[in-house]
Amino acid sequence: MGRAPDRRPAPAPSRPDVWVRVLGAAAGGGFPQWNCACPQCRAARDGSRPCRARTQSSVAVSADYRRWFLLNASPDIRAQIEAFPALRPYEVRESPVQAVLLTDAELDHTLGLLLLREAPRLEVHATARVHETLDRGTSLLRTLRACTHVEWRPVAPGTEVPLADGLSYRAFHVPSDKTSRFGAGEADEDVVGYRITNEHTGRSLVYVPAAQRLTASVRAHLEGCACLLFDGTCWQDDELIDLGIADRTSREMGHLPIGGADGSLEQLARLPIERRIYIHVNNTNPILLEDSAERRIVEEHGLEVAADGLELEM
Ligand SMILES: [Zn+2]
Ligand SMILES: [Zn+2]
Repeated sequence: MGRAPDRRPAPAPSRPDVWVRVLGAAAGGGFPQWNCACPQCRAARDGSRPCRARTQSSVAVSADYRRWFLLNASPDIRAQIEAFPALRPYEVRESPVQAVLLTDAELDHTLGLLLLREAPRLEVHATARVHETLDRGTSLLRTLRACTHVEWRPVAPGTEVPLADGLSYRAFHVPSDKTSRFGAGEADEDVVGYRITNEHTGRSLVYVPAAQRLTASVRAHLEGCACLLFDGTCWQDDELIDLGIADRTSREMGHLPIGGADGSLEQLARLPIERRIYIHVNNTNPILLEDSAERRIVEEHGLEVAADGLELEM
């Protein structure tokens, strides 16, 4: 990771756009998941129902199409970089990737950092508690520091942070009472969402791949955004219990389900946001099947389901 040189050709549009690319749209495990033969994973493999495979969730943002900032670093990051020419290196050893902004310390959001270890330095934005979990909980940072210089930028929710010309972010807390598997003691997990703003146009993107509850304070941070990428992990709360995969509900795992009277869909459908898009979709979620009733319900409510390669401008 290093400052990208300015020799490469600039993109054609002269207007001050911010580019957003969904590198991966699936939750942990990806779609299909290597050890899963649920109806959705089977359909992805045998083509019996219309659906597209997806890698694990990550989003890239840029104000100039040359310097890119990643929202989380998934274990699929290597393939995601190769699949998107703008993220490939232009010099013998360098990368357009400037920094990684972490929403939490989940493995499917952070393991990709280890795959970036060949860079001479890595800039990582994370809250103090996420940093602590990565350092002493998962030990990921301790391993990474043995390979490269990690530059930690502490994330302070509520503070506007400039990233590059015309691009800034503001993190906000996403309340969760889920206990981290890797945290010290009984501490609740630390989760933030990011509001990325194009300062030239005032338009913004909000990224929330993990939300246990859609509280009034979270909704306040979504207000007025042009585009929302929101936690679409499970359709129903007991989805993984029904399949015999887990003994915890979607909520207990930190993810508000989409369906049901108190699910995210009914709430998000009421918000005046241009594009509301589900991301971080688990392979068990029937909305991945394009001909499913659940997918139709999502679309009838005016929401979309992200796939890898989706590009947004703002
Ligand atoms: Zn995840
Ligand atoms: Zn599956």
